[in-house]
Amino acid sequence: MTTLYSPGTLVYLENSEQGWLPAEVSSCTRGAAGALTLVLRDENGKETTVTGSSPSDLPHLRNPPLLESADDLATLSHLNEPSILYAVETRYAQRKIYTYSGIVLLAVNPFEPVPMYTPEIVKAYIGRTKGELEPHLFAIAEDAYAAMALDGTGQTIIVSGESGAGKTESAKLVMRFIAAPKSPALNSDKNSFVDGASQVEQQIQATNPILEAFGNAKTTRNDNSSRFGKYIQLLFDTNRQIVGARVRTYLLERSRLTFQSQTERNYHIFYQLCAGLPSQNLRELGLDSDYSAFHYLNQGGPSTTELSDRDKFHATREALGIIGIDDARQTSIFQVLAALLHLGNINVTQTRTDAIIDDEDPSMLRAMEFLGVNASEFKKWTIKKQITTRSEKIVTTLTAPQAVGVRDSISRFVYACLFEWLVTAINESLTGKYGDAATRAETYIGVLDIYGFEHFDKNSFEQFCINYANERLQHEFNTYVFKLAQEDYVKEKINWTFIDFDDNQSAIDLMEGKLGILAILDEESRLPLGSDASFLQKLNTQLDKPANKAVYKMPKFANAAFTIAHYALDVTYQVDGFLEKNRDTVPEEHLALLTSSSNPFLREVLDTALHRVGGEPVDPASPNGVVSKIPDPGRAGLVGTGRGTSVKKPTLGSIFKSSLGTLMDMLRMTNVHYIRCLKPNQHKMAWEFNSLQVLAQLRASGVLETIRISTAGYPSRWTFEDFARRYFTLIPWRDGPSLIKREQFKRLCVLIAQRTGMDKTKYQMGETKIFLRTGVLATLESLRSAK
Ligand code: ATP
Ligand code: MG
Repeated sequence: MTTLYSPGTLVYLENSEQGWLPAEVSSCTRGAAGALTLVLRDENGKETTVTGSSPSDLPHLRNPPLLESADDLATLSHLNEPSILYAVETRYAQRKIYTYSGIVLLAVNPFEPVPMYTPEIVKAYIGRTKGELEPHLFAIAEDAYAAMALDGTGQTIIVSGESGAGKTESAKLVMRFIAAPKSPALNSDKNSFVDGASQVEQQIQATNPILEAFGNAKTTRNDNSSRFGKYIQLLFDTNRQIVGARVRTYLLERSRLTFQSQTERNYHIFYQLCAGLPSQNLRELGLDSDYSAFHYLNQGGPSTTELSDRDKFHATREALGIIGIDDARQTSIFQVLAALLHLGNINVTQTRTDAIIDDEDPSMLRAMEFLGVNASEFKKWTIKKQITTRSEKIVTTLTAPQAVGVRDSISRFVYACLFEWLVTAINESLTGKYGDAATRAETYIGVLDIYGFEHFDKNSFEQFCINYANERLQHEFNTYVFKLAQEDYVKEKINWTFIDFDDNQSAIDLMEGKLGILAILDEESRLPLGSDASFLQKLNTQLDKPANKAVYKMPKFANAAFTIAHYALDVTYQVDGFLEKNRDTVPEEHLALLTSSSNPFLREVLDTALHRVGGEPVDPASPNGVVSKIPDPGRAGLVGTGRGTSVKKPTLGSIFKSSLGTLMDMLRMTNVHYIRCLKPNQHKMAWEFNSLQVLAQLRASGVLETIRISTAGYPSRWTFEDFARRYFTLIPWRDGPSLIKREQFKRLCVLIAQRTGMDKTKYQMGETKIFLRTGVLATLESLRSAK
């Protein structure tokens, strides 16, 4: 260890503001008990003294300048947090937003349009392998396409990152690249085929404006934040031509429909509707281009009109048309949306104890007219509640806040069903009539645009589900990376003891295990008198035990909360609202009213969304029972059925768990490619890089964790040829060039290792590659530059 440092050694000095500062060792003294005292000089000439006796007390080693901003972080000789961060930062400053980190592509959001996606660039990446050109999303997409084309193996590209990091933009670019006709020249004489292909491509592109209008909203973090997870499968036939696609969505945020925080908005579609619909139609729906009168739209603060809402509305309508939702159906959709806005304006008051709604409440009458539901029945079951006991039915009255709660639960339910219906409609269009595209499809490329790890000041059920999904994805990622590394060792016949790495299985078990948090939550949700408080109590009695010590904690300073030690970070969850959100029900009586509505469109919407057998979705991609060869990632529509009391209602938690399970099974059957989006600063400023914030994201995305896994082995692996060509100058001048000429690369590698005195424990020769432990390359590089 002590030989690692000598005057001139490049290191990183810990710094509370920037994370780390590059520095150089200016003197180095060994103390009595093996302790080392280093004097370090940083970039500004400031000197600092560090003393330590183990590597963890001493500064991280820095890479030689040549390697410092490498295309692929895996080729860095010293793989440590500051080197990784520094490489990403240096590249970003050079306007290079993409960097590889082994199998992962890191993408730092430029926050302004960059000229990197032109047709010329698309063309340049087609047919190229990953290392040939600069790191790019397109290289990953091409890699996936090539791997699929080779032997038909399904591919998945997982795009992750925190809100506003650029997942959706990246996913769209990847989809556009993959859906672009691969060899336009070849197809140009087959007109009919080209037309067919472009129609599919159009339909695929049309999914974006639709899903964004109904599923995205302005938040404090991102003006166009996706409030759901999305998996889109692009389907290919035997000729590797695109024949269709399928979309699955996960966990749409429902609370946004009835509540928005300051400066946030409801789903875009409502504003688009008000800004874009001709005034005649607006009047018919009882709407106005000034929507500040609507409770569901004005909670985020003073009018937050976006000029683009009107344009976006036309784009949404056009997209709806492309996937086969005609004007008449669009009008029906708008009518339901208007009904929800009126529902939110129903005035609920209270006598001393009981909620009241005026029989003539204009908002109620309008909403019920559009929903096709009897207003007095609606009113009755909004201010009253029926409890069925073993012997009788008891009707009790509700307070005003309770009645508002019922009203809002209906709005959220109808909106979630509408979203579900739209996804189904999109799938029917994308898989072709009778689902024939799904039958013709032989293989696929899936793109997963899923919410990254979340930790806020207050974390609730939504964050719990999101972080649970991220734990599972991280687990797959670790297993995959680790497996790949080990496979390479076996293939190259390297002496290697298989090591176990400390993975996040215990956190996953804690969340989804038989006696885990989700199970306890479900049990509590089924009890008529279950409450958030008793849920927490059960968690603490059942989970706060030595076996879970590392992952489950009772927070010291927060009441009504529990803490999970996630792979990324400890997160404390407030139990308030967990039960209600997990149950996710509307009163039986309301459900009956809605499903027997006189509005045929609404009936269809509910029927589609509720059409499940025992909680399992009916595959919308095979409406006629056509079974596709392509495994289905499962649907996570998350609309509880609530039909009939005999059927056990699936809870949101259990639906999410099962859809994640299907998704993971499916990922395991594919080749996986990873894109990790990084947000360089919190205020959406172009080219501003906040090191500490990026560091936190690198930790949360598991990039640093993977590095830990790979440094346990031989992180640098070079083909004999590459290694020989780079370092042959390190051996006596005659041997090198002549062996290069005779292409005796392996022999050269052996010679280089011997003559430079490489420690035998630090490298191994495989069949085609030389494997190096961390740090070896840096030594060679310094020898090389000293020449
Ligand atoms: P959320 O989780 O909230 O949905 P997200 O990760 O999907 O966030 P995006 O909506 O894709 O984030 O990106 C946020 C914004 O960042 C975009 O609206 C755009 O302004 C900018 N952006 C993202 N990627 C790029 C890019 N490649 N080039 C230019 N701007 C980009
Ligand atoms: Mg998004």
